[in-house]
Amino acid sequence: MFTPLDRIFSIIAGWIDQNAILPILYHFGWMEWEELSFDWMLICVYGVFALLVTYAICWPLEALRPIERWSSRKAVLPDIFYTVLARVGVLPIVSFLVFYQVQVWVNGFVVDHGYIPPMLETLIPPLLGHPVLTFLAYALILDCSDYWRHRLSHSFRGWYALHALHHAQRQMSFWSDDRNHLLDDLIGALWFGVVALAIGIPPLQFPLLLMFMRFVESLSHANVRLSFGWLGDRLLVSPRFHRIHHGLLAAGRVSCNYGAVFPIWDMIFGTADFSDAWPATGDRNAPEAMVSGGYLAQQWGGLTHAWGQMRAGHAKRKAARRQARPLSS
Ligand SMILES: [Zn+2]
Ligand SMILES: [Zn+2]
Repeated sequence: MFTPLDRIFSIIAGWIDQNAILPILYHFGWMEWEELSFDWMLICVYGVFALLVTYAICWPLEALRPIERWSSRKAVLPDIFYTVLARVGVLPIVSFLVFYQVQVWVNGFVVDHGYIPPMLETLIPPLLGHPVLTFLAYALILDCSDYWRHRLSHSFRGWYALHALHHAQRQMSFWSDDRNHLLDDLIGALWFGVVALAIGIPPLQFPLLLMFMRFVESLSHANVRLSFGWLGDRLLVSPRFHRIHHGLLAAGRVSCNYGAVFPIWDMIFGTADFSDAWPATGDRNAPEAMVSGGYLAQQWGGLTHAWGQMRAGHAKRKAARRQARPLSS
């Protein structure tokens, strides 16, 4: 389902590809990337557009109805860097280079061994001929799998220590959505890859709808006193709903409101909290480097924190085993 906007994006991406990317590829003799370079550009163009729209909507909201007023916004700067890196910068290109190749290889391997990745329409025949419903079904399934990835990331010491980078931010804003540890991102990409293999993800069929879902995720982190009302809060994740997940008391291994786009999974699996609360955000156990350090300090802080947490967990299990042992020896 391509709109006129999609066509404009293709034209812009094609122009940049022809005039800026291909000459570089030819110059260095990297012709094997020629076919993919247009796709990278398209992702970057969508990324820039999504960023502009997100900024144009979220910035005025944060200015008009802020939950917190900050004297300095310095702590927000690394989050802007994370966002640019994730949406328009290096990460989409790296994931294309690595992930796309791996996916082609894995897909080829499983097909060679007799496994045909199913299409949702063949699994649920009534969806045939209803592309928007099919997209919604894909979105719900992906969101459900993301709910469990997120919930599990809160359940294991080492994994949560990485995810704590996302929670450490005390000045949460619409820029905070992509504030993640690289290893946590990698686990997320692998998780997505497995689900994609199980249900078959159609190639970027609905880029604008996908962009809308990412927008909901950005908005849910905004420093804005905004809920979508009783029903709306139960249909889409609102800033109020996700802020409770980021609240100081909810940070850590027992939390609530794990859903990224649809609250329905929290409602079904008993983790929804629709209280009318606007708690302060952050994670008191995260080392200061993960809170106020620069990008590299945060990434390194995440690694050492995860290592420390895994060692602490190991020592605790050992002590518990020792205690459980009979006293005869
Ligand atoms: Zn979380
Ligand atoms: Zn979040």
